[in-house]
Amino acid sequence: MAEPRFDWESGIDALAPHLTGTKRVGLQVPEGLRPRALEIVARLAQLCDAEVLLWGEPTFGACDLADRPLSEVGVDALVHLGHLPMPYHTDCHAVPVHFVPVQHTGALELPRKSIKQLREMLPKSVGVVTTAQHLQLLDELQTCLAEEGFASAVGEGGPRLAAPGQLLGCSSAAARALNVDGYVYLGTGVFHPLTVALSTGKPVACLDPHSGVVTEAKADRFLRQRYAAISAANGAQRWAVMFSTQIGQERLTLAERLAEELRTSNREAFLIGGIHQSETQLAGLGVDAAVITACPRVAIEDGPTWSIPLLTVPELQILLGKRESEPYPFDEFP
Ligand code: SF4
Repeated sequence: MAEPRFDWESGIDALAPHLTGTKRVGLQVPEGLRPRALEIVARLAQLCDAEVLLWGEPTFGACDLADRPLSEVGVDALVHLGHLPMPYHTDCHAVPVHFVPVQHTGALELPRKSIKQLREMLPKSVGVVTTAQHLQLLDELQTCLAEEGFASAVGEGGPRLAAPGQLLGCSSAAARALNVDGYVYLGTGVFHPLTVALSTGKPVACLDPHSGVVTEAKADRFLRQRYAAISAANGAQRWAVMFSTQIGQERLTLAERLAEELRTSNREAFLIGGIHQSETQLAGLGVDAAVITACPRVAIEDGPTWSIPLLTVPELQILLGKRESEPYPFDEFP
């Protein structure tokens, strides 16, 4: 059996006829496909006979579209690989954006050992979630789970999600829509299932679809870091309120409100924005702490490495006495 791989070729080939007549095409590839990016550029350029401009900034999600900056250098269309569109902002793109799915090929593996582990880890009623690369395996997984006595369900998400059961690092709406006691995450890595663990507090089993390996998404270490960050930020006087200009992460109105709340609580607050948020944006400014209204995962994954506390929006609200600290309030994008 062939090794599972990411199939980007089918999507590019199917898209090419829709780009006929374009002179200049922008291309965004997700971080995991960067090693193949130049190959993708070459294939796209050959198929649509256009100049292809590869976007050099990181592309973390469909939140991260490069339509506006690339329209300023005259692209006729943008090809965005690997992420599904966010339906709520598809009407306001600066140029036509073509989302090209990238599916992980290969069959679902669910050996006896994995089923035993799922039984030990989970109650009988589970929700099933996954990312764009494995959505095509959800039906088969549900059939397998039913044969093993699980009652499984797939939830519908909100305006940020393009498909039932889809999970983002900032949205577990498809999981939270379900009245279940635990979840099976179909996919690889801990980034996405951690969203569900943090936002529901329920057990989340991670099933690697192609090796059948089962692990548990554990939120404990992250929760300890989050509460430690809130505590460390408590005495901070001068705050950065960070916002992104990216269409799927822009919450400037919220940032302005938070800055006002910080000032009302006798702290200083400054609005600081850019495409992607990093500690370098604060270098030399002399701020004591920051809150991020852009991607909340910057605080959760990168925050512990910053030299000042970096909070998510609900964490700042805890600090300001505007919400309870338990259960942990994950910063879900609407
Ligand atoms: S988790 Fe962050 S990078 Fe991923 S879709 Fe949400 S805002 Fe974008």
